[in-house]
Amino acid sequence: MNIILFGPPGAGKGTQSKYLVKKLNCFQISTGDMLRDEIEKDSEIGKKITDNMNEGKFVNDDIVNNLIKNILFDPLKKDKLIFDGYPRSLSQAKNLDLLLESSKQKIDFIFFLNVNKDTIIKRIEKRKILERRSDDNTNTILKRYDTYMQTTSPVLDFYSKNPNFYEIDGTLEIDKITSKINDILKV
Ligand code: AMP
Repeated sequence: MNIILFGPPGAGKGTQSKYLVKKLNCFQISTGDMLRDEIEKDSEIGKKITDNMNEGKFVNDDIVNNLIKNILFDPLKKDKLIFDGYPRSLSQAKNLDLLLESSKQKIDFIFFLNVNKDTIIKRIEKRKILERRSDDNTNTILKRYDTYMQTTSPVLDFYSKNPNFYEIDGTLEIDKITSKINDILKV
């Protein structure tokens, strides 16, 4: 089963993906984690993206598209993908469609975790204290939210027509969101 978790930063995509990975024995594709790894390794990609990430801007589509490409063609991960934070732009969504088609896969469920700005700011402020993420300061959070709002509507339009698209109230408690997802997945 392949699933996309879609929503603003701080909507709980990471938390729900980790749960789904365990429950369904799948693999999480978190482009945010992959990009942070590149920065940690101080790779060529890492050097290019540090400023963008710290400023809360999106990383270039080509870089992100390249990072996920091989995973789609990994036979061990086929039909076991949980997308967390990808796709985030219309061009990424279209790229994913092409990769799915050529790797003979499809998306089974798209969950849109919808959360308002105030809740996001509160949640990320909390995460900043717990996880010490360098892009989790209030200005960057606001910038990340604005970036998300600017690029998100075309992606939402793109996916909301899909019969497997489900909007879930992301302001609910973690367990409530999980149980809504389980009900839809019938697991
Ligand atoms: P996340 O951990 O998903 O909140 O992502 C953290 C940051 O990584 C974002 O603010 C972007 O700068 C970058 N990023 C993660 N995923 C993508 C993506 N699919 N496209 C562009 N930038 C991304």
